[in-house]
This record gives sequence, C-alpha cells and structure tokens, in this order.
Amino acid sequence: MKDNKVIVGMLALMTAAFTAQSVVLFQNQQEMRQDVVDLHSEVEGNAEDVYTLMSSDSARLYTIMDTMIRVFHYAKPHKKAAWNCPECAEIHERAKKAGSVSVYTLNEARK
Ligand SMILES: [Zn+2]
Repeated sequence: MKDNKVIVGMLALMTAAFTAQSVVLFQNQQEMRQDVVDLHSEVEGNAEDVYTLMSSDSARLYTIMDTMIRVFHYAKPHKKAAWNCPECAEIHERAKKAGSVSVYTLNEARK
C-alpha cells in the first residue's frame, strides 16, 4: 500500500516535471520563432543596401582590373595581340571599322 503511494507520488512528480519541461520548451520555441521573424525582417531591410554595396564594389574592382590591364598593355607590351586585353581589342576594332588591316595582319606584316 505504501509502495503504491510512492509510485503514484513519483508519477505525479514526473508528470509535473514533464509538463514544466514542455512549457519551457514551448516558450523557447516561441522565442526562437520570434527571433527568426526579426532576423528575416532585418535581413530584408538590409538586402538592398548589401546589393548596392556589392554592385558598387564590383564596378570599382572591374575598373581597377581594366585599368591595370590597359597599363600593362603599354608598360609591358605583348609580342602579339593578346586575348582579353581591352586595349588590343579596341585597336583591333578601330582598325576593322576604318577598313584597315587588323592587329593580327599587322603583326604578320612585321615579320
Ligand atoms: Zn594589349
């Protein structure tokens, strides 16, 4: 009889502990859900700024790279017209528009 009371008491304690744990877990879940909603709205608010900064940074890097390649075209001249050299491409396009010989045929003529 005494064992039954102990068992019932332990079951009641376990039920209370389980209920308290469930309440704490539910509260944590609600807080985390609210944190996710806050973070999502914060990211959405800053996404356009991040995109603008990234695009301006990319444009700046493109300009720096283009300038460096053009500087190398004159500072350290290639022996032939180089692929992906904007300066060589512009010279080639100008010659083509003028109906003149291209850089490639000029190089061939020099030999
Ligand atoms: Zn070049």
